[in-house]
Amino acid sequence: MSITITDRAKKVDRRPLSFTERLYLPGIMKGLKITLGHMFHKTATINYPEETRPFSENFRGLHILNRDEQGRERCTACGLCALSCPAEAITMESAERQKGEEHLYREEKYAAKYEINMLRCIFCGLCEEACPKDAIYLTQTFAPANYQRKGFIYKKEDLLIPQKAQ
Ligand code: SF4
Ligand code: SF4
Repeated sequence: MSITITDRAKKVDRRPLSFTERLYLPGIMKGLKITLGHMFHKTATINYPEETRPFSENFRGLHILNRDEQGRERCTACGLCALSCPAEAITMESAERQKGEEHLYREEKYAAKYEINMLRCIFCGLCEEACPKDAIYLTQTFAPANYQRKGFIYKKEDLLIPQKAQ
């Protein structure tokens, strides 16, 4: 035996509206009371990006590649950060320091290319922990949005802190 929609449909007897309900005024007043109540509550939202909320001290944001006290690049392209990265977000190419470049690079090897794919990064901080040269840090800066995937590939030029003016 097939069951039709009409068999399943249940008739609902609506209670007729009372006189005050037909005026709608009590309902409107009730709604206004809720609206006014919310107008004087502390807002739960912020006007991002004009306003930003303070982050916890434990917050890990964008990376920086650090320099030493003499402004030389600390990174020696040892690859430990890339090895410890669970998201495989770091790639690099190493190069040998040449004669006369001692003021640029702290040690004999340096990262000729260093990239972090921020779409892969989970901001776990393991790269920072693995680095034996204190060369990479996660800052409290929030990773900005971008319209293109390639905008999330942070190159060495984006990560390296600028040289201090002499
Ligand atoms: S923070 Fe974590 S996921 Fe991001 S690059 Fe470093 S190790 Fe990889
Ligand atoms: S950032 Fe640190 S761990 Fe990564 S390659 Fe450079 S020196 Fe090695």
